[in-house]
Amino acid sequence: MIPPAFEYLRPKTVPEAIALLKQHGDEAKILSGGQSLIPMMKLRLARPGYLIDINRISGLAYIKEDGGFLKIGALTREAEIEASALVKSRYPLLLDTASAIADPQVRNLATVGGNLAHGDPANDHPAAMIALGAQVVATGPKGERVIPIEGFFVSLFATALQQDEILTEIRIPIPPPHSGGAYFKLERKVGDFATAAVAVQLTLDDKGAVQKAGIGLTNVGPTPLKARSAEDFLRGKKLDATTAAQTAQLAAKDAQPSSDLRGPADFKRGVIGELTKRALFRAAERAGR
Ligand SMILES: Cc1cc2nc3c(=O)[nH]c(=O)nc-3n(C[C@H](O)[C@H](O)[C@H](O)COP(=O)(O)OP(=O)(O)OC[C@H]3O[C@@H](n4cnc5c(N)ncnc54)[C@H](O)[C@@H]3O)c2cc1C
Repeated sequence: MIPPAFEYLRPKTVPEAIALLKQHGDEAKILSGGQSLIPMMKLRLARPGYLIDINRISGLAYIKEDGGFLKIGALTREAEIEASALVKSRYPLLLDTASAIADPQVRNLATVGGNLAHGDPANDHPAAMIALGAQVVATGPKGERVIPIEGFFVSLFATALQQDEILTEIRIPIPPPHSGGAYFKLERKVGDFATAAVAVQLTLDDKGAVQKAGIGLTNVGPTPLKARSAEDFLRGKKLDATTAAQTAQLAAKDAQPSSDLRGPADFKRGVIGELTKRALFRAAERAGR
């Protein structure tokens, strides 16, 4: 299927890209990996008159720890997350998440920035970033602003990015010692979007109780969700079969699924409960107490 005609623009710097966004307004869209935008154009669900391809802008692909944060450049590909020794050794939740996305061909092109900027509640990185308490850096005509991930997803396919802003960086606070995370996803077949998925990030204290809990939910609401009541309940408690079951029940309540081709709403709530339990125990095991 061939997408509708568009003008193709290829800036070499971020300020040039922002100027093009400003010039062409609502008619323009940023092109990163193209793994969501191009299929949408082919299906006539998006018809931008101008595609601003940011792939030639250097310095937007990196994974590094700096100033208390893990910093991920917006153009970092999913395959680069999977291959990163730093991610593998210190951010298992991110590795789980990237490996669960689509297939290797898609992951070679798809970017972490695009995965968030698309605002699709079915995408996998948003829940992981919610669990990790990430921040998103948006760069626009007036410079940079930092958006906490909790305020980034506004509604279905809509984010807090302004029309003339580019997502340039994702910042994840470096987790303290005895932290660990995990992502569990149920999909109908390999490579599919989630029927439902759960991201958990835990920090344990000296006694092995949960000091900090982040729980994000995928594809069970109009936006990616933070399972707040589940997080609040778990804080200060030791993880065992009883507390895990109670946390899972609360996460299932926090979910807002609707019935669709991937299953009825009640089934998805059940999936969230079960995956929450699994993710909690894996995260605690990785936290290492
Ligand atoms: C077959 C298939 C299966 C898939 N399965 C999954 C899956 O299981 N899980 C999953 O999470 N994803 C899945 N995806 C989606 C894939 O991961 C997307 O590539 C990703 O969501 C978007 O990243 P991208 O770099 O390709 O963005 P693009 O497609 O280039 O852009 C997507 C949207 O974000 C905007 N955008 C992109 N980058 C920026 C930026 N830096 N600043 C501002 N706006 C920006 C674009 O304008 C566009 O509106 C699948 C895709 C395919 C084709």
